[in-house]
Amino acid sequence: MTIQIENAGIAVTPVQRNVWQAIGRGLACACPACGKGRIYDMFLKVNPTCGVCGRELHHHRADDAPPYFTMFVVGHIIIAGVLAVERAFAPATWVHMVLWLPMTVILSLVLLPPIKGALIGLQWALRMHGFGGGTDPANPEPIPTASSNERGK
Ligand SMILES: [Zn+2]
Repeated sequence: MTIQIENAGIAVTPVQRNVWQAIGRGLACACPACGKGRIYDMFLKVNPTCGVCGRELHHHRADDAPPYFTMFVVGHIIIAGVLAVERAFAPATWVHMVLWLPMTVILSLVLLPPIKGALIGLQWALRMHGFGGGTDPANPEPIPTASSNERGK
């Protein structure tokens, strides 16, 4: 992919971003670019920029994908747990309620930030929604090319 910067007369090829590294950093709730800055200001409120590397994070459009994936994961864990406990111990219904309802809430709240972070990391790595794509030239990542080296002379 080549980005043409208007009126500059140079063409730069963006650096390839490591998708799995960005997803891993997002899972750790860290900046997908540097892995050191925190991605969240509060529980799920994304910092507009990384506090360490300054990379803009506000371009994310995670929207309702994090809850969707969280429900998918939590549902599989909880339903498997309910079925296993029922089969092994056949407890009363109230035991299931006391066990699995709080577990569902806690697991959802614990998994939502890393899953959202992973999706933001994926969007950043794929340059979606202004994460370094053509729609947001504020943070281009130019790599030295013959034309840019000649500019410095
Ligand atoms: Zn950063």
